[in-house]
Amino acid sequence: MNNKEKIEQLLLNVQKPARYIGGEHGSVIKDKSKVDVRFAFCFPDVYDIGMSHLGMKILYALKNNRENFWCERCFMPEKDYKQVLIDNDIPLYCLESLDPLYEFDMIGFTLQYELSYTNILSMLDLAHIPVLKSERTGLSPIVVAGGPCVCNPEPLVDFIDIFIIGEGEEVNLELMDLYNEVKKRSGTKQEFLRLAAKIEGIYVPEFYDVEYNADGTLANMTPNVPEAPEKIKKRVIADLDNVYFPEYFVVPYTSIVHDRSVVEVLRGCIRGCRFCQAGFIYRPFREKSVDKIKNETKCLCEQTGYDEVSLSSLSTSDHTKIAELLKTLADYTDDENVSLSLPSLRIDNFSEELLERLKTIRKSGLTFACEAGTQRLRDVINKNITEEEILSTCKTAFAGGYTTVKLYFMLGLPTETDEDIEGIAQLAHKILDAYFETPRELRGGSIQISVSTATFVPKPFTPFEFEPQATAEEIDRKQKLLVRRLQSKKIKLSTHQDDTSILEACLAKGDRRMSKVVYKAWQKGCELDSWSEHFKFDKWCEAFNECGLDMAFYANRKREYDELMPWDHLDYLVSKRFLINENKKAHDAVTTRNCKEGCSGCGIDKCYGGVYCGGKH
Ligand code: SF4
Repeated sequence: MNNKEKIEQLLLNVQKPARYIGGEHGSVIKDKSKVDVRFAFCFPDVYDIGMSHLGMKILYALKNNRENFWCERCFMPEKDYKQVLIDNDIPLYCLESLDPLYEFDMIGFTLQYELSYTNILSMLDLAHIPVLKSERTGLSPIVVAGGPCVCNPEPLVDFIDIFIIGEGEEVNLELMDLYNEVKKRSGTKQEFLRLAAKIEGIYVPEFYDVEYNADGTLANMTPNVPEAPEKIKKRVIADLDNVYFPEYFVVPYTSIVHDRSVVEVLRGCIRGCRFCQAGFIYRPFREKSVDKIKNETKCLCEQTGYDEVSLSSLSTSDHTKIAELLKTLADYTDDENVSLSLPSLRIDNFSEELLERLKTIRKSGLTFACEAGTQRLRDVINKNITEEEILSTCKTAFAGGYTTVKLYFMLGLPTETDEDIEGIAQLAHKILDAYFETPRELRGGSIQISVSTATFVPKPFTPFEFEPQATAEEIDRKQKLLVRRLQSKKIKLSTHQDDTSILEACLAKGDRRMSKVVYKAWQKGCELDSWSEHFKFDKWCEAFNECGLDMAFYANRKREYDELMPWDHLDYLVSKRFLINENKKAHDAVTTRNCKEGCSGCGIDKCYGGVYCGGKH
């Protein structure tokens, strides 16, 4: 019985077997005897989530575009299939060839959220690959990681050989070319790592020594080989119109979270919301031309057969030609009976004209990320929207027949008081009033307002990287206060689990000692931590205790401006001086203009392709 037949038999007893068998339309099959480098792209979460991720689709197609490389996909199995693999001694495999991960030259993980870290260990272990990098001495497999969370990779340094800092399209191919060269001349892992360290955007953690102060803070982090730079600069694609974008997607047999075509519209964000890591690490703001976006949309819809396309970006309505873009796309999608969705719209440029256009595009609900309930706190976080703008947008939307409003807020933001929590409730009630003030003949059926709160997690490379996270007790008190203030059946409140936010803060801001905690927690059975049914906070607490580390030290401690952070050897191009200045302005509730209104001098150079960079400041 070959591997495929064996796996097919076993799949009869698991949920959603289509997750584990491959063979989907668009998946790439090559002759392995004819490729030089095999890359296993691993998403450290289940298929349904990983298959929805745009970055994976881009890098999968990009690598397979090169004849001598073969990139395959691998996802974290759910508990039932994991047990099947273990019971039948089947190592975790990639979906295209069904070959085990240990046969691959390179294994790459994308780090999208901190709570996926233990899944990396589980996947390596299920693949019969040593979890600790110190136990992997040969040239293959090399384990690499990229994605937003590598902006503080330290909690994973015991497991990952190489981190890719910044945008991956160019550097991934450079790294694979280098690997090919070293493999061909039968070079060693050490040789490969030292050469890789010289590539811009590559961080090899073992080439850095770390010392700590008596109080547990970081004393220094110094390179220990000449190839390792003192600062590792992130990679940026300057010209989005010429960057590779796939002409095809793998189309799954089973339902996934986002099952549609996705076209990237722009990268970066002009806004500078002070809590938002993506808004800082993806700078500068660059965009694709309307023509390029239209061609990609057409091409993807035709290839995949999807009847829905979504535009992806941090803030789609900030595209400099948004009206022309929507018209061009709507003309195409109307003709082809394809529906167009725009998930990242900001409230403050949600004009009547845009709303009018959207009415022809989608009639679902409105989603507003207000983040804070009072103007003072919105100024602190630099969310430059006013209550009037929120209400007037809602009024326009209600008059246009919209009846569902989702409002997102954070609890525990720096300087937050009970007045700010009460402000959330007041704002929701004012939106409700605005609905009832809309003439009956204009407004739609029954209104439903959803208020969702998440706990604020201070993140590296934001002006709030210095801030402590509110304690679980404090968040609990704030949540209860909000419940008491929200007094209508038309307003539904959902809150976020506190303990996952605490762990998220520890992993986001942890130093490399945190690797030991991740390892221990995983040994105690922690995995799929982002799934509430699998999350074991008690096991994480035990792991911290046994490693002699304190969660509060990482999550709830205020950092001084001159403290050395575990991520300070990485250069995401925004200067520390700018972040400190933004932090001070936050405490004075002073806002900063967006890049479009005028450059504020965050430190990014004009040569990185930023639409607004290089202005006078
Ligand atoms: S350099 Fe200026 S325009 Fe460019 S991202 Fe920074 S603040 Fe914005």
